[in-house]
Amino acid sequence: MAISQLARTIKESPTLRLNEKARLLREHGEPVIHLGIGEPKNKAPINAILSSAARLNTGEVKYTPTDGTPSLKKAIIRYMEEHYDRLVAPENVIVSTGAKQSLFNILFTLLDPQDEVILLAPYWVSYPEMVKMVHGVPIVVTPEDGTFHPRMEEIEQAVSSYTKAIIINSPCNPSGLVFSEEFIAAIVDLCETRGIYVILDDIYHKLVFDGNRADPAYQYSDKDLESTRLIVVNGVSKLYGMTGIRIGWVVAPRKLVEVMRNIQAQTTSNPSVISQAAAEGALSGVQTTVESLRLTIQNNRDVMMQEMRAFNGVHVTKPQGTFYCLPDFKAYNKNSVELANFLLEKAMVVTVPGVEFGMEGHLRVSYAGAVKDVVEALSA
Ligand code: PMP
Repeated sequence: MAISQLARTIKESPTLRLNEKARLLREHGEPVIHLGIGEPKNKAPINAILSSAARLNTGEVKYTPTDGTPSLKKAIIRYMEEHYDRLVAPENVIVSTGAKQSLFNILFTLLDPQDEVILLAPYWVSYPEMVKMVHGVPIVVTPEDGTFHPRMEEIEQAVSSYTKAIIINSPCNPSGLVFSEEFIAAIVDLCETRGIYVILDDIYHKLVFDGNRADPAYQYSDKDLESTRLIVVNGVSKLYGMTGIRIGWVVAPRKLVEVMRNIQAQTTSNPSVISQAAAEGALSGVQTTVESLRLTIQNNRDVMMQEMRAFNGVHVTKPQGTFYCLPDFKAYNKNSVELANFLLEKAMVVTVPGVEFGMEGHLRVSYAGAVKDVVEALSA
């Protein structure tokens, strides 16, 4: 078969593969406990449901503007004002089919072949594959001190004349870490000075625990929205638990948005009109869902931390946000794929091998599901 060299290098998504495996096992009546999943259990906010149902009821389900309906963009602009303290123009916003497409559009827009993108291990599984898909080179920086917090010295060493961008995901999937304010300020300073784009994957930015916050990186930049190197990505998947709606967006200088619009126009035309209506409903309605989701997940995190104590020799870094944790299981098995397979076969517990996130010897455990799953899985 004539499959391109590039396509051959792209790995399967391990998280989506595990979702499918867990689904099939359940279908066969196996009592599988899914701690691999990256989605909360809550129902979509009522405003999202009503808004998409209302759109469907009109029977008007046509193409929308490529970069999103004006009313959803207005809701995003309000969100930016409220949560980022930035007044942005409609020309700075483009809505896509999930934050995944948003990230892909950004990388496609920025990278020439051989350009480098700095990724901070542990990183989200899709970043390196997406960089490769646009002929870029992922440069992985791993904290040498064994923590999950990146260090500026290591990043500065990784910067070269080919560095086009760095991806920052705080709170971080898979570690649950919120990067320090000093670190974000230093990254912004370095990148604004050196002309390196900072892609801020803020998809978990409201899911932060213990009264802490993940403050927007804009506050550390003195550039205006047209000259800044900061690019913000967000979406409704994690905030509202609306993963199946597939709506994400980018806020960036309008010149970049223009190019992303062309790319999107030639690939998917526009995100689904029904989904855009759902996202608009979620953003414009009462925001209690986000807070109750956050509290539920924080409680799950506490239960998980408690249960983890039962494992001798397992080192757990307490997550400060997201719904993931990345315990160090090297005391049991240094090979995370072997360990994840063992847990699935012997205990019917799905986890994701840390090696997929650039952290061998660890397992990613999700506590997005029911608290009883977390307890059962860890006692299995
Ligand atoms: N970024 C990160 C860090 C994620 O964890 C995910 C989803 N797992 C995404 C982006 C993509 O989100 P979406 O569902 O909006 O495509």
